[in-house]
Amino acid sequence: MEDDREMHKATCSDCGAECEVPFKPTEGKPVRCKDCFRKNKPQRSFNDRGNRGGGSRGRFGNDRPREMHKATCAECKKECEVPFKPSGEKPVFCRECFASKRD
Ligand SMILES: [Zn+2]
Ligand SMILES: [Zn+2]
Repeated sequence: MEDDREMHKATCSDCGAECEVPFKPTEGKPVRCKDCFRKNKPQRSFNDRGNRGGGSRGRFGNDRPREMHKATCAECKKECEVPFKPSGEKPVFCRECFASKRD
């Protein structure tokens, strides 16, 4: 069954060895021989798919000072400032409450 795949000759862009790959090599895309392919793979190849770069947090506060808007925390009713304009529809939390919600 495995022999059904069409193999294409290619040159490994890592070690320069001639190899065959089960897909049509695209120009501009690096092709790797089996050895280099394996070497370049992270240890757990399947499990951490999509895991990297997925964090959407951490953009607040680090780079630049943002415009802050006064708001009232929906949890503790404290006055606070948030880096976005409170819409009035979504609850706004002060830093402490926000942080405690993250777990
Ligand atoms: Zn190689
Ligand atoms: Zn609060």
